[in-house]
Amino acid sequence: KLYNTVQDLKGSIRVYCRVRPLGTTGDTAPTCLDVGMDGELAIYDKSGERKVYKFDRVFSGDVTQQRVYEDVQPLIRSVMDGFNVCIFAYGQTGSGKTHTMTGSQEDVAEFRGINYRALDDLFTLGSQRSEDIDYTIKAQMLEIYNESIRDLLTEETGSSGKLDILSTQPSGQNVPAAKQVEVTNTADVLEMMRLGARNRHSAETKMNERSSRSHQVLTIIVTGTHRFNNSRTHACLHLIDLAGSERTDKSGVEGERLREANSINTSLSALGTVMHSLASKSKHVPFRNSKLTELLADSLSGQAKVCMLMHVAPENSSFGETVSTLNFGNRVA
Ligand code: ADP
Ligand code: MG
Repeated sequence: KLYNTVQDLKGSIRVYCRVRPLGTTGDTAPTCLDVGMDGELAIYDKSGERKVYKFDRVFSGDVTQQRVYEDVQPLIRSVMDGFNVCIFAYGQTGSGKTHTMTGSQEDVAEFRGINYRALDDLFTLGSQRSEDIDYTIKAQMLEIYNESIRDLLTEETGSSGKLDILSTQPSGQNVPAAKQVEVTNTADVLEMMRLGARNRHSAETKMNERSSRSHQVLTIIVTGTHRFNNSRTHACLHLIDLAGSERTDKSGVEGERLREANSINTSLSALGTVMHSLASKSKHVPFRNSKLTELLADSLSGQAKVCMLMHVAPENSSFGETVSTLNFGNRVA
């Protein structure tokens, strides 16, 4: 298999943590978090005991979208140089993952998330380098729900709509049936994102709140053709809004809800294990344990660059989930 031949399995992994501002969900309860200097985040339990976590960066609730973007920008720019990049938003439902990746009001540039900013940046870089290299930028948007893959850029048809991974192909080409659209400017991007959101939403009305229980994977495929010798570079940028990481109380849960909870659990723990194996240079990296890790295998290993954006809610009521998110982040760092 393609990705087992990669010699240097250690990708470059960085882990950031973003704290959602207090009160965005109407909950004005006191906070259990304290953002310190140099990537430190302290959490207090009920007895006042303090534990400090360390990340490559910690963003407090008042940090702007632009400021967060500045810290992922170098990764995004490296896609133009042929590196595969994955950026994950991890955290419980309501912790701000979608705010970071997509943003809130798409019509207000200031509130746009990483997805828009990244594409805008790629367009700018492409035009700056256009004397030497011709860049083509394509986008593909998939959803992984209950361990099956669906195309968000195609209207759902009568058929099951489930797509297969061809693991002998590199990411960006490993879901042959997925639709890829070429994007050349911000208007194209807005249109593509709206289509994806609409298709995601139409599935949601059939099943309430599905978006928090599925992973959304936006893949940007950048191909550069050098004018002098026609040589080509291919690279993928994957922007992933993960399913909510909250642990479902499985007692009394059955049927579809139990299946959902189990698939989320499977894929998030598979992701954690893969990242941990990569970080510790383990010989065996179990990419095949979930669709998510299988889909992204060659964009997590080798020369790939990975950024985990851990999201936490600051309220005391989220203490348990916050601790488990912080522990996940620490494990993969
Ligand atoms: P998730 O995708 O993790 O479920 P959301 O991104 O939907 O969470 O965030 C929950 C709510 O909090 C939304 O109304 C969102 O606009 C708001 N929110 C999240 N993060 C921020 C932030 N950094 N600044 C302002 N509002 C935020
Ligand atoms: Mg969300």
